[in-house]
Amino acid sequence: MVAAAAFLVTALLSSLVIVELERRAAQEARMRAASLASGRAQAIQTTLERALSSTYALAAMVRQGGGHVADFEGVATEMLSLYPGVAVLGLSPGGVIQRIAPLAGNEKSIGFDQLRDPKQGKEARLARDTGKLTLAGPLNLVQGGLGVVGRLPVMLDGASGQSHFWGLTYAVIRFPQALSGTQLDQLKLAGLEYTLWRHHPDTGTIQVITTSTDATLQAPVEQTLTLPNGQWTLSVAPTNGWGFGVSVLPEIAFALFLSLLTAYAAKLYITLKNNQSGQEALIADRTRVIVASQDKLQATLDAIPDLILELDIEGICHSYHASPTDTPFPPEELILGKNIRAVLPQAAANAMLGALRQALEVGYSKNRELLAPTTVGPQWFEMSISRKYGASPEQQRFIVLVRNINQRKQTETDLRIAATAFNAQEGMAITDANERVLRINLAFTEITGFTEEDAVGRRLDFLKSGLHEPEFYEAMLETVRTTGSWRGDIWNRRKNGEVFPSMCNVTAVRDDAGNVTHWVNSLMDITSRKATEEEVNKLAFYDPLTGLPNRRLLIDRLRHYMAASSRSGLMGSLQFIDLDNFKTLNDTLGHDMGDLLLQQVAKRLTDCMREGDTVARLGGDEFVVLLVDISSDLLESVAASKTIGEKILATFALPYKLAGVDYQVTPSIGITQFQGTKDSTDELLKQADLAMYQAKAAGRNTLRFFDPAMQATISARVAMETDIRHGIARGEFLLYYQPQIDRAGHVVGAEVLLRWPHPVRGMVPPGQFIPLAEDTGQILPLGNWVLETACAQLKDWAGQTDFSHLTLAVNVSARQFRQQDFAPYVLDLLRYTGANPARLKLELTESMLVHDVEETIEKMNVLKAHGIGFSLDDFGTGYSSLSYLKRLPLDQLKIDQSFVRDLMTDANDAAIANTVIALGHSLGLAVIAEGVETVPQRDMLAAQGCDAYQGYLLGRPMPVADFERQVQAQSQGKA
Ligand code: C2E
Ligand code: CA
Ligand code: CA
Repeated sequence: MVAAAAFLVTALLSSLVIVELERRAAQEARMRAASLASGRAQAIQTTLERALSSTYALAAMVRQGGGHVADFEGVATEMLSLYPGVAVLGLSPGGVIQRIAPLAGNEKSIGFDQLRDPKQGKEARLARDTGKLTLAGPLNLVQGGLGVVGRLPVMLDGASGQSHFWGLTYAVIRFPQALSGTQLDQLKLAGLEYTLWRHHPDTGTIQVITTSTDATLQAPVEQTLTLPNGQWTLSVAPTNGWGFGVSVLPEIAFALFLSLLTAYAAKLYITLKNNQSGQEALIADRTRVIVASQDKLQATLDAIPDLILELDIEGICHSYHASPTDTPFPPEELILGKNIRAVLPQAAANAMLGALRQALEVGYSKNRELLAPTTVGPQWFEMSISRKYGASPEQQRFIVLVRNINQRKQTETDLRIAATAFNAQEGMAITDANERVLRINLAFTEITGFTEEDAVGRRLDFLKSGLHEPEFYEAMLETVRTTGSWRGDIWNRRKNGEVFPSMCNVTAVRDDAGNVTHWVNSLMDITSRKATEEEVNKLAFYDPLTGLPNRRLLIDRLRHYMAASSRSGLMGSLQFIDLDNFKTLNDTLGHDMGDLLLQQVAKRLTDCMREGDTVARLGGDEFVVLLVDISSDLLESVAASKTIGEKILATFALPYKLAGVDYQVTPSIGITQFQGTKDSTDELLKQADLAMYQAKAAGRNTLRFFDPAMQATISARVAMETDIRHGIARGEFLLYYQPQIDRAGHVVGAEVLLRWPHPVRGMVPPGQFIPLAEDTGQILPLGNWVLETACAQLKDWAGQTDFSHLTLAVNVSARQFRQQDFAPYVLDLLRYTGANPARLKLELTESMLVHDVEETIEKMNVLKAHGIGFSLDDFGTGYSSLSYLKRLPLDQLKIDQSFVRDLMTDANDAAIANTVIALGHSLGLAVIAEGVETVPQRDMLAAQGCDAYQGYLLGRPMPVADFERQVQAQSQGKA
């Protein structure tokens, strides 16, 4: 019942709706048709009006020509193209057609009287009478076809000013051609039929002008057009009429269906109503089950330490579930909704996509690994992927379990490293707490020859070489037990009995409680390392420039031969060779040349040696030759050493070729002998060195043997050096004055001589300290002190008549004289003390004059210019050449005492003395003889013309007071 009622109500309502809808649709269609028809009607009217306007143009032509149109055909034909609806244009003067365009086909019309024609005359006359355009038709045209004719009367102005009817201009508009521009087709396209018609003015019947159909239009929509001869109508109606058609059928069917559905729904509703309580219970039950299973699933998911992702095959993450405790994969906010390609490093993303593809193919993927970034740096993960069933391949989803396996990976790596390390070149043996071998590696077998079979289960004692004392092993064990490890070199024995050096390391492995569980013993064969060490040592034993043994190797060999000589009793010899003036060569020719020379020297020295002897270079220009097993006899040994030394001197005599230039260099050689080990290597080297200095002191290019006295002198020198410094500081030095006497026996002055009354050594003679002071430079302060004292003395004497005439001769050492500021210094000193320069005489020696002759002469000239005198000391012992002697501004030559000493006994010396005196005089110089000890000496010198004398005969060097006394005594005696 309820269903039937629901059906009826629905059906009724639907019908009403359908009817209303249809009514509205029809109304809409009519409106649309009316709108379209109106547009077309407008177009038709405009077209006709335009076409008819051509008659005005013709009328204007006629009026212009005063009734004559010269070229009507030409102009009208032209006009036809401008008025598309017009088929014919013509002129009918007096109503009779005279001119027509186009003429062809219209010839019949010429002569036709429009005013009198029974059919058309009415409208023509209407035009004439009203003076307005009239439209006739549609009518059947003379030319054939249907058309309308528009006629316009033309009125001309006559001579009298009255206008009169001239005739008609006319245009024939042909149908339906004239309507071609009005687009009536649009109506057809819109599904409409049309008819253009009018009521015939005469008959009142409907005259059709054009139509799209033969059928009568049903309830057409109509639009009227107003034309000069009345109204035309455009009727429009749909081809199939406006009304209810088959189109309503679907709606009716739908309404029926709807009604049935409502009826069914009503029925269902009743049934549902009845079942509702049962349904609700069921849903509640289902919900409980689902919630429970979701809880269980959530708990399960939470219990899984892995990250669970849901991805599609493209790699886009659709869900993310991470255990809160686990090391996070890139976190949810980074991954969820994103493509893993954009989130993971390329390699990791590729691994995951590869696994996804595998899962797509076979349903799952297992154990694929990837390295992904996490908050604690990159970590290793393992993936298990399963494909979700059900969806289409494009929407396929995958459950991806990502498990952190970093710890496992680390352990694997550690194990691999440990395994690799265990199989390294180092031999290894793992022993248990009781030191019994559990495992050895390959290298252990390779090094020791003991296989696993030999070694396992035994203590490592089998490696013992027997070269170490038991205490060695005990100490080692003690260290291992207390510190947990031991490292050191041990001699071990291989299985084949061979003993070899090894570097060993023992380390304890302890459990968590700290108890030793294992020992790791490693050993390395260092036989080759030892060899390498020797190789390195060897390199360190040779001089790279010359390839000669260096100091270390020399000392090594020296020590060796000293020991050997104490057994054999054979003596050896150590020769210290130093090149003379090598520094000058280096400075002037450059170090490259210096190096070249050293290399050539090395070669020549080596060539001089016997086999077994050693030539070494200590550095710089110092070489040492070590001769061994010479002889057990000291003298023989010395002789042989000397021979070798001389051979070396000889070999140096040949010039060296340095880059094409000859260069000469000489050596100074110091030799010492040894036998046994009573002297140390250092002492022997020092001895040879000392002897070498002696050779240098002796004028270079020579050799000297060391003897103990030499050593003593040297030691004394060293001691004295310090003493001189202190002596100067304490003012210990004194000046003695030795008188100089002229031929008449008068004291003309004195030579001042240094004296050093040493508090311990007593009076030290200048011969002992002057050369040393020259070596060390202390001669400078000492010499200055002498000069100052002498000048002060001169100044002092200047005011005393007894002494004012006295001169003082002061010895100037070479080093002192060579000082750059020597001359200004002396001049300053004279000014400062106020001494008379003419009373000061400087004693120079020949040796100091040969260097820098020009500079010496200049210096002497400066001083000479101030009145200072010069005496050439020790004359005759040097090599003064006459040529420069002439140029020196000297005042006096001093014959050396060596000639004076033997004057009476040696004819040579007498001759020299004689020559010196003659020479001096020839140069205009005074000559003084020193060391005159006897009267005969003085007499002889006097006989030869000597000008003055100095010597013990005339007075020993003495303190100034004694000297003054002697001078006074003499002058008193004279007086
Ligand atoms: P010298 O310049 O040739 O001095 C003369 C040396 O002969 C002095 O020795 C003097 O005492 C010694 N003599 C003088 N008459 C005789 C004699 O009749 N017989 C013998 N056998 N000897 C005699 P002294 O004083 O020992 O001086 C030695 C050298 O020390 C000097 O030789 C001189 O070269 C140097 N000397 C001494 N005083 C100075 C000084 O103040 N400055 C410098 N630069 N050298 C000095
Ligand atoms: Ca002197
Ligand atoms: Ca002298």
